[in-house]
Amino acid sequence: MDRRSEIAGNLEAVREQISKAAESAGRSVDEITLIAVTKTFPASDVEILKDLGVSDFGENRDSDAAPKAVAISGTWHFQGQIQSNKLKSITSWANVIHSLDEIRHFEVIEKSAAHALDIFCQVSLDGSEGRGGVSEQKLYELAKEIEKSPTHRLQGLMAVAPLGVDPATAFSKLSAIHKAFMADFPKANKLSAGMSGDFKEAIAHGATHIRIGIQILGSR
Ligand SMILES: *Cc1c(COP(=O)(O)O)cnc(C)c1O
Repeated sequence: MDRRSEIAGNLEAVREQISKAAESAGRSVDEITLIAVTKTFPASDVEILKDLGVSDFGENRDSDAAPKAVAISGTWHFQGQIQSNKLKSITSWANVIHSLDEIRHFEVIEKSAAHALDIFCQVSLDGSEGRGGVSEQKLYELAKEIEKSPTHRLQGLMAVAPLGVDPATAFSKLSAIHKAFMADFPKANKLSAGMSGDFKEAIAHGATHIRIGIQILGSR
């Protein structure tokens, strides 16, 4: 099978599963943004996705992402662990950052970003920072800094289900954290959660942005 047919088939299957998950949760699919995670895959795959109607692309590494984002127009999402020395470059091509978890990184963004960014705060669901994310205690402080910005927009929260934890349990906890958070930050009503292995559970718990790589593009 050629690459285009392979990707088209996978994409259709994923879209169908998103519709079903939304329907069982009593939600509209229109409130769910599918981000195709193109990290490690070539620009030619991004072109195919674009041709198939995908406009949101997710990346984890500046050096892998920058050339693709420069060559292909779309909404580019950065969801990888942030390294301060790469931030200026990341803000040059990214439209959305999902993985902000430190105030000092936001300060760099404020100083160096050439355009307005949509920002999600990444929350750690297990208290450890192994997979990235700010603790619940430090989350509000970080969010307040972003809200003060005249330029950038706080969108909501992002999280990755901890390894070895049932995703439904993890995302139920995330949903509770997000609901409490919205009492203080009512505009931050977006929730970025769910990857290839757990997006159905994430949709059941209110995810508005799901980040899917291998189920669309195959194994890396
Ligand atoms: C790689 C990655 C994804 C996509 O994961 P898949 O298993 O390929 O669907 C989503 N979110 C983050 C933060 C990632 O690092």
